[in-house]
Amino acid sequence: MKLARMPDGAPEIFHTLQGEGRGAGRPSVFIRSSLCNLHCQWCDTDYTWNWTDTPHRHERDSDPSYQKFQRGEQIVDLSTAEITAILSRHDCRNYVFTGGEPLIQEKSWLELMAALDGDGRPRPHFEIETNGTLLPGTAFLDRIDQLNVSPKLANSGVAEELRLKPGTMKILATTGKTDFKFVIGSQEDLDEVLALIEPASLPRDRVFLMPKALNVAELEANQSKVAAMALSHGLRYSDRLHLRLYGAKRGV
Ligand code: SF4
Repeated sequence: MKLARMPDGAPEIFHTLQGEGRGAGRPSVFIRSSLCNLHCQWCDTDYTWNWTDTPHRHERDSDPSYQKFQRGEQIVDLSTAEITAILSRHDCRNYVFTGGEPLIQEKSWLELMAALDGDGRPRPHFEIETNGTLLPGTAFLDRIDQLNVSPKLANSGVAEELRLKPGTMKILATTGKTDFKFVIGSQEDLDEVLALIEPASLPRDRVFLMPKALNVAELEANQSKVAAMALSHGLRYSDRLHLRLYGAKRGV
């Protein structure tokens, strides 16, 4: 599987607290895959897709210290056995598959879940964080325990036909395993979410609004506004615990 590579060459696999959604605060092992099928302009894991040979824009382009990434330097390709060997160092059975867009490598995750199911340790719990544009197959949906779907809004700068797949979201909503998380920075963002709830059949108690923030200062500036939006529309609020605890760092 193609995983995100840390500056020291290690794959981005780390034991931490889940920072968002219904599982916030839960000890988890995150496995960050490389590659994404979108190119959100505020993406904080742009080292998984913003390669030097792509035309994609990022909101940090005007920052002289910002540069696109060399694809070959940002990916480490590991076998299932190599990944499970790393995971066996952690006495934690809640695994979070993240990216990038992890469903680009659906087959590899299926192999990893099968290996972890059969390793003789307590039954693992598997979560995936996905942008909701790719529909996984039945085998994947049967085994995954929780899907955290984060559809991208116009604030991502990505064309609507690429970032929003209401039909896919509707199917994922029927699994009973799916939460939907939206990054909110403005009233326009909220209006987009509200306009999606009916067409995509999103259950309101599974829709989380999360403040748009790349750091704690932005989080604190947005949190009250987004909390009030959630309250007034019968939706849920999600904090970004990892940002508060660790800041905008990789591998935590
Ligand atoms: S879908 Fe997620 S990983 Fe991909 S570009 Fe958007 S924010 Fe980044």
